Amino acid sequence: SNPFLTLNYESALESLGDDYYDEVAAAEFPQHILRWRNDALLPRLGLDPEAVTDEDFITAFGKFQGRKPLLALRYHGYQFGEYNRQLGDGRGFLYGQVRASDGELYDFGTKGSGRTPYSRGGDGMLTLKGGVREVLAAEALHYLGVRTSRCLSMIETGLSLWRGDEPSPTRSSVMVRMSSSHIRFGTFERLHYLQRPDLTKKLLDHVIEQYYPHLSAQQDKYVLFYAELVERFAKLAAQWMAAGFCHAVLNTDNMSITGESFDYGPYAFIPTYDPYFTAAYFDYYRRYCYSHQPSICKLNLEMLQEPLKAIIDKGDLEAGLAGFDERYYAEYGFLMLRKLGFEQLPHPEANELVNLTVEFLQDSQVGYHQFFYEMARTFSSKWRDEPGFVLNNSDIVPVPGASAIFDNWCILYHKILNGFDCDRIDVIAQTLAHQNPKTVLHRPVIESTWEAIAQEDNWQLFYELLKQIQSRS
Ligand code: AMP
Ligand code: MG
Ligand code: MG
Repeated sequence: SNPFLTLNYESALESLGDDYYDEVAAAEFPQHILRWRNDALLPRLGLDPEAVTDEDFITAFGKFQGRKPLLALRYHGYQFGEYNRQLGDGRGFLYGQVRASDGELYDFGTKGSGRTPYSRGGDGMLTLKGGVREVLAAEALHYLGVRTSRCLSMIETGLSLWRGDEPSPTRSSVMVRMSSSHIRFGTFERLHYLQRPDLTKKLLDHVIEQYYPHLSAQQDKYVLFYAELVERFAKLAAQWMAAGFCHAVLNTDNMSITGESFDYGPYAFIPTYDPYFTAAYFDYYRRYCYSHQPSICKLNLEMLQEPLKAIIDKGDLEAGLAGFDERYYAEYGFLMLRKLGFEQLPHPEANELVNLTVEFLQDSQVGYHQFFYEMARTFSSKWRDEPGFVLNNSDIVPVPGASAIFDNWCILYHKILNGFDCDRIDVIAQTLAHQNPKTVLHRPVIESTWEAIAQEDNWQLFYELLKQIQSRS
């Protein structure tokens, strides 16, 4: 029997009643070619990868046999600032919810599995390239320490799709995403729009019970929930920023109520530190550019106060949101210091070092990821011969003019290093290497991976890239 069908499924969302979803059917596809199975996730489901066949993946996550109901969730959301009630799972559904071996409840959600009542003009499908891009993004972010959904499987379907922006038909896929929850800010916004505080409360109780269980017994659990959600998003925004990641579509329907990152469309990893780097070509006003991500999270959290006001006092919500900035800066500072090799830095220089690093990266426009990778590489190869030596201009080739900032950076970095003894220097080298992998999902890397698939049906680059990402090399 198929091991995916005998997992510990729970009906957590289904048990809330049909105010929150519609039951749907999956599309039937002409072919089912398994292109990605994420074996790294199977142990968490209590499954031995060796014991799970490709056919098991295909039956469960390509043909969707043996499980019912399949639920398209209802939600609204603010898209680029405009309220949109024509939303909901338009090309996916909740396949099931599973209690994993870590005790957490996970959602298996599809993408590209056919039309639903929320498809509007869309075909309910996912391009193969879109599937490839999301698989890669989720793995890369996970191994960079970003709290994110992952892709469990991606199956090519044999359907040709016509997409407005492409001259010829393109291949399609159906993906299964394993995420902490499908409930978004927009799920609550819809209930507010419908003027259903009763349903809002029921959903909030459910969210706290499932995803904030440590708060369940607290008397002021609603207030504490919002404060923790703020904290989770402050951390997530810091994780994106340190990872050099631009999500690109931070609409409120893409904001998970658990504070997990998900839904990777036109995202990009920044080539250089450019605050206004914008990943989506249709984001004309740079609303979701790289440096706006923290303030957009904060704005989305503020908009979520509208539905939550039915349950939580306005003053408590405002106090909760007021914690965002401090939490964000603390986390960003911590993560950037770690990228610079320091797990903890008692020095007063810590802030100065992070600020100077960012100033240098922005002024010089050297590769964001290249800078840290080169630092990690030269640090471990050179410090033994020349203690205190880390980098010089020739290692990262800054453009002329940035060299004054770079000189200051070197002086400060060396000054901090001099405060460490030799065995700590080893730890710094390890931290640098661990935090700054060589492989980065820059757009040209994704494009060449895709071109090999599109032109020669050669998947080797894709699998090699995933192997490098998963082994942090
Ligand atoms: P996104 O921008 O990916 O977060 O999607 C926004 C909304 O559009 C969601 O309700 C999606 O389900 C829906 N959607 C996106 N692409 C399609 C498609 N090809 N067919 C149907 N619905 C879609
Ligand atoms: Mg979405
Ligand atoms: Mg999407």
